[in-house]
Amino acid sequence: MTNPFHDRLVVPQIDDNLTQEEIARWVKPFYMSRPSDAKSIGGLRILYSDIDEGLAHRLLSLQNWRPRVAGAYFAAIKNLVGLQDQIGKLLLRSDLVYAGATYCLALASFNTPASRQTLRDYLDYYLTTPDNWYDQGEAMGALTYLDGLNGTQDAADYLERWQAFVANKPGWNLGDFVADVTQTMNDINSLGDKLSRPPVTQLSLLQGDITRQTVDALVNAANPTLSGGGGVDAAIHRAGGSKILMECQQILNERGPLEPGQAVSTTGGKLKARRVIHTVGPVWQGGQQGEPELLASCYQKSLWTAYSEGLSSLAFPCISAGAYGYPAKLAAEVAVRNVRTFVREHPGLDEVRFVVFGDRHYQLYQQVLQDQGENALPCE
Ligand code: ADP
Repeated sequence: MTNPFHDRLVVPQIDDNLTQEEIARWVKPFYMSRPSDAKSIGGLRILYSDIDEGLAHRLLSLQNWRPRVAGAYFAAIKNLVGLQDQIGKLLLRSDLVYAGATYCLALASFNTPASRQTLRDYLDYYLTTPDNWYDQGEAMGALTYLDGLNGTQDAADYLERWQAFVANKPGWNLGDFVADVTQTMNDINSLGDKLSRPPVTQLSLLQGDITRQTVDALVNAANPTLSGGGGVDAAIHRAGGSKILMECQQILNERGPLEPGQAVSTTGGKLKARRVIHTVGPVWQGGQQGEPELLASCYQKSLWTAYSEGLSSLAFPCISAGAYGYPAKLAAEVAVRNVRTFVREHPGLDEVRFVVFGDRHYQLYQQVLQDQGENALPCE
């Protein structure tokens, strides 16, 4: 039987190429990973409002499968139902333009009569071609998932054909496909909710030990050689173990000492935090040697690192206010001002926590937060 969908598809239109910049922006971060992966979320936070039907349509129109995968994910996350016909055609021409798994997910996310019919049309033909090891599993998974959602029995019509189709395909287990599609659909739904919600970043203040915080990342007041040292730096390395130091040494070998105002990230090792962001504060020399700008840069670069890695929460110590001698009140002012500005301009972080040692620093931060109009929540 020849493919009955031959005349349905006009794509791909290879003349509409993407620029290198667009590939870096829209394709590379997304085509390999699920949209729920941390890295994708970080990228999506930045790009979410720029994703629209026009962009997804363009990505889906290309010959290369990578942009098409990104386009289908964007369509699913943003529920771009207007693209269901285009995506349906791509799926039905899996002999020409594979990467059908993501089309199945997009069609499942639309959950319209037409999108469900496309999944059925696909199975009607592609379950009869046992030599085409395409995305029949995802299509069955998607239909079964939709049956659960809609109280329908569509997948039952295909079970017999499915059994025959998978007879020579070890590892093609329907239960696995259904579980996988269900998990991904749940991720897509919660991601869409999360990204479309008006974002509010909670600033909070805590007196205590930063190494014990349950946040995605701790910021470390490091020294340029990233070698541990004293104060908060020593505490973080002690609690996080040698893995952090090994990564620090690798970074040092690659790029040399870290200049004041810069930030790099490593694993969190044994800490509860997944990541540690190491930043080097300025040494206080009276305030006329660029110290405020360098300290501001520590906060900005650390926040940017967390944001672009897709992290949701982070904790800062009072950078430079220990051994580096920065007056604590001035340091707290720089900290709060820069965090406030950043989160206003980059919505999406859930929480930024200031963690300080001692009553005096706690009261200073309270005062500064109040002065800058911030209702910071004290946290346990
Ligand atoms: P810097 O060299 O940048 O001055 P320090 O580590 O000497 O960094 O001190 C920075 C701030 O961190 C100081 O206010 C210090 O009291 C505080 N600090 C030290 N250890 C911890 C810790 N475990 N948790 C939270 N804050 C800490």
